Amino acid sequence: MTESYQPETLALRAGGVQSQFHEHSEALFLTSSFTFDSAEQAAKRFIGEEPGNIYSRFTNPTVTMFEERLAALEGAEQCVATSSGMSAILSACMGLLKAGDHVVASQSIFGSTVNLFNNVLKKFGVETTFVSATDVAQWQAAVRPSTKLFFLETPSNPLTEISDIAAISAVAKGCGALLAVDNCFCTPILQRPFEFGADIVIHSATKYIDGQGRVLGGAVLGSKKLMEPVYGFLRTTGPTMSAFNAWIFLKGIETLKLRMEAHSANALQLAHWLESQANVARVFYPGLPSHPQHALAMKQQKTGGGIVAFEVKGGKAAAWRVIDNTKLLSITANLGDTKTTITHPATTTHARISPEARAAAGIGDGLIRIAVGLEAVVDIQNDLARGL
Ligand SMILES: *Cc1c(COP(=O)(O)O)cnc(C)c1O
Repeated sequence: MTESYQPETLALRAGGVQSQFHEHSEALFLTSSFTFDSAEQAAKRFIGEEPGNIYSRFTNPTVTMFEERLAALEGAEQCVATSSGMSAILSACMGLLKAGDHVVASQSIFGSTVNLFNNVLKKFGVETTFVSATDVAQWQAAVRPSTKLFFLETPSNPLTEISDIAAISAVAKGCGALLAVDNCFCTPILQRPFEFGADIVIHSATKYIDGQGRVLGGAVLGSKKLMEPVYGFLRTTGPTMSAFNAWIFLKGIETLKLRMEAHSANALQLAHWLESQANVARVFYPGLPSHPQHALAMKQQKTGGGIVAFEVKGGKAAAWRVIDNTKLLSITANLGDTKTTITHPATTTHARISPEARAAAGIGDGLIRIAVGLEAVVDIQNDLARGL
């Protein structure tokens, strides 16, 4: 579908396939394989001489609709859908890297992504150097002749640090490396990394793309040339998105713009309120003028997004008191849900890293992360005020 349509239109109309029944809502093709008219057609499909579906580990029409819709929104030539956000990152790395290659990654990335680089890829001869999300000079200094990939996530989790995609992309281009951006927190509604020079965009569709906390999925997006080996890895090894999950995501995307705007408006209001609370030492939210990279955030993203973190005075005991006194918010590590979730990063999502590394990353014992949902903000405030 052409790029001349606005995002909210693409979210509804891009990537449609209609069957002979002329259904209006996208169909769910729950089938593992597809049949052929003849032995000759089967042969042509298998050697790639004729386009068409063969087997759902390779392609499936519902998954293809999801891929085309997300590609239209990100402005990408191609999208490869995967079974989770982690398998999207794995597929991108396995497709594009080989033993002996070097990766430079932001130290403020998702915990499982750190483990993937440190524990999984390392076994296969791919080394990773972790650098500051915000200090571009560190990215340049970490470059080696073997550097093939830069990897970052912006805003970061949970401190909402903003990486300058354009500046880091310039460093990557200077050394012939690719830049991959995990766009999970913003979605293409708030941030389009390709416009700032990214080569690859990664999604955990589990979060805002579903938006209602139902299923896991992921995606890798980029040029046809870059996606060819990524798809090749997926087709052979099988971390494919299920048709059912693709169908859930297709429906989720239809309301993505409305939801991202509502999440952002609620988060901004909550962040202002938190800043006015006596027992809150500091609030981390890119939409607040007090955020150290507020200006960059407002240039790169449309809004501050839906994630707010704050430091409670009194350390872990005080943070747990706030969490345990909530009656409405869900105590869970997931994010991007219509329901507000609350997490204590130091003892959950970031518990497996050393206290020293945690302190260096700025994740204090009093830190709380809220993924602001779509409830009335006053109800969220009252729920937090009890423990504060
Ligand atoms: C959740 C998350 C992932 C991993 O996605 P899964 O779908 O849980 O595998 C990767 N990156 C970010 C930023 C995330 O929040």
